[in-house]
Amino acid sequence: MAPGSKPLLDRFADSDLAVEADLMRSINRFPFFHTAEGASRPRTRFQGREMINLGSNNYLGLADDERVIDATCEAARRWGAGSTGSRTLNGHTLAHEELEELIAGFTGQEAALVFSTGYAANLGAISGLLQRGDHALTDEEAHASILDGVLLSGARLRRFDHNDVDALERLLGSGEGRPAACLVDGVYSMRGDAAPLERLADVCEEHGVVLIDDEAHGFGVLGPTGVGAAEAQSVLRRMDLITLTFSKSLGTCGGAVAGDRTTIEWLKMTSRPFLFTASNTPGSLGAAMCSLRLLIEHPHWPAEVRGRAEHLRELLVKQGVTVHPSDSAILTVEVGSDAATVHAWRLLWNRGVFCNPVVAPAVRAGRGLLRLSVMRTHCDEDLEEAAAAFGVIDEAYAVAGR
Ligand code: PMP
Repeated sequence: MAPGSKPLLDRFADSDLAVEADLMRSINRFPFFHTAEGASRPRTRFQGREMINLGSNNYLGLADDERVIDATCEAARRWGAGSTGSRTLNGHTLAHEELEELIAGFTGQEAALVFSTGYAANLGAISGLLQRGDHALTDEEAHASILDGVLLSGARLRRFDHNDVDALERLLGSGEGRPAACLVDGVYSMRGDAAPLERLADVCEEHGVVLIDDEAHGFGVLGPTGVGAAEAQSVLRRMDLITLTFSKSLGTCGGAVAGDRTTIEWLKMTSRPFLFTASNTPGSLGAAMCSLRLLIEHPHWPAEVRGRAEHLRELLVKQGVTVHPSDSAILTVEVGSDAATVHAWRLLWNRGVFCNPVVAPAVRAGRGLLRLSVMRTHCDEDLEEAAAAFGVIDEAYAVAGR
């Protein structure tokens, strides 16, 4: 080994990933880390250019809502810029308690626990509940935070094919009767399709398995009042735990777990991602509280955002583009290889449309997607212009008729 060489650091510098990123940057095709020059709005400036923003999870348009911004500032003035410690020691305020009570009531659960992100909420709920020797049964497309929660818990990870309840049943049949939890996204983040929660609840109840439903993308979008996919499928009360994020429909940052009082108390005392980190910033708590109250006062908003997504789908289909089936505000168009997906993404960027390219490992190699997410506040003109821009990638990649 050369003197001064540090193999761990060399590993990253020489990796395929670093080489590919450098190459994409050199030909102006790197599709990540674009600098936004303002809040997430239907039209947002990125790097000096106003773009139609179909790449944000600001489903209800609350990230730039003046009421939510005022609530953020008011909370910071009252409680300070930061919480300066964990909930357990010194970072616990009345704002946490009020928000937890509101979330518990909204989700129809006995209690809730607020975490600093949605990622931490999944990590905390799963690693707090499962132990070494237990079984974690996850959908193959479940979010990374679910997998990381399982890894942290030490439980045995067993994955079943996407939305395949029969495959789950087969796994349970060979599960040696170990304590088990089934972990799914209510709405899958990449394709926007919902989990078959009713059938999952049937199977979990039959086998004594805890069902944890991550409503990150259903919250504010699905169900008569916007609780999520479980509410839309009338099975809210059959979910053992629901996890949420504040970073999408609520337009701020944070997350929560809602469930029965005993489990929430247990998580409060044992969950490492809850115990060993500073509590949420007061501003984010104030914002989440304000956004959730606004959602409760405007129960028609979830239907409105779904209507916007449906409108964009119709416009794209009219344009001849094949849009993957979806149950939410997320629409996807399959392109193919990673290189083709990034190129198609760039053609849309050139035409003033900002969306998200989804490439391996987020999806299987060769199944690259363009992911479009719609806001309640997108107007007809935004959606019409965006759909028209798809003509250019259709010429290049024949996304029509797939
Ligand atoms: N769950 C799902 C399904 C998600 O898509 C995300 C965010 N991409 C998270 C959890 C994590 O949420 P947050 O960004 O608030 O950490």
